[in-house]
Amino acid sequence: MAILEPVKVAGSTISKTTLHNEDFITEKDLKIGDTVVIQKAGDVIPEVVEVVKEKRTGEEIEFSMPEVCPVCGAPAIREQGEAVRRCINIECSAVLQRSIVHFVSKEGMDITGLGYSIIEQLIEKGLITDIADIYKLKLEDIASLKKDGKKFASNLIEAIEKSKQNDLSKLITALGIRHIGGKSAKILAKKYKTMNKLMNATFEELSYMEDIGEISANSIRTFFMEERNRNLIEELKKSGVNMKYIEDETADDRFFGKSFVLTGALEKYTRDEATEIIEKFGGKTTGAVSKKTDYVLAGADAGSKLTKAQNLGITVINEEEFDSMIKKL
Ligand SMILES: [Zn+2]
Repeated sequence: MAILEPVKVAGSTISKTTLHNEDFITEKDLKIGDTVVIQKAGDVIPEVVEVVKEKRTGEEIEFSMPEVCPVCGAPAIREQGEAVRRCINIECSAVLQRSIVHFVSKEGMDITGLGYSIIEQLIEKGLITDIADIYKLKLEDIASLKKDGKKFASNLIEAIEKSKQNDLSKLITALGIRHIGGKSAKILAKKYKTMNKLMNATFEELSYMEDIGEISANSIRTFFMEERNRNLIEELKKSGVNMKYIEDETADDRFFGKSFVLTGALEKYTRDEATEIIEKFGGKTTGAVSKKTDYVLAGADAGSKLTKAQNLGITVINEEEFDSMIKKL
């Protein structure tokens, strides 16, 4: 983040902008003390456009990313192909705090009330030393963090209890396995049904899954090979956290695993609308026709994609046929 002298842009005062990552800083040649041009991208997050080099005085300071973690002092390593540096110390309190923030987030176990500062306090007091400790918290522990904290504590305990019933996919997301977000977690939960089966899935099996691929497969294997992580799962299980896939009966996933390509001019839907419908039913759209494509939805004046689909023998449907596929069952 860049800290700026406050300036008015499009009606609001800006004093911070995102710098994205180390590469962005290098690319823009940003130095501490620089004068910069900023813009509000999409009216939300302001960002730096460029440095006004004419305004440099020579007093500007080169920025370099710290090589060690500012919290625990362990090396902070940037892996090849990654944009960020990470503290390598698995016992680091900052790493623990971040992983708990992620674990309880909306996409993860969705535990309302367990905010950043509460987590910080719980770690400081030694009440949380790993993720599994969340489920060992006692009412009086939490209540002691706040003045008149009884009500807060009982709500939080309730939220923690409730999270035990979450679907397996939420738990997978919550674990923070690198490269595994909500979407991949859903696919994994649906295929493996239980945490145990996922933990024992082979690299080959995982990497051949559609939408998972080698990088994610490797990351899943690495995660579960770590004894510490296997122990964490064991502890969570003991606390009564659900480890199974819960079929969502209201979800209609008639297009699950199906891949669509849209081409030509559609009349009834925009591309975005058609994509949204396909995704709602569990399918996906891709840009190019391949042997893996299941359907090509072709509108008027469809060109090379249609020809390619015909050559590959892929089912081509028009809007009318698409309509009947998405009708209520
Ligand atoms: Zn650290």
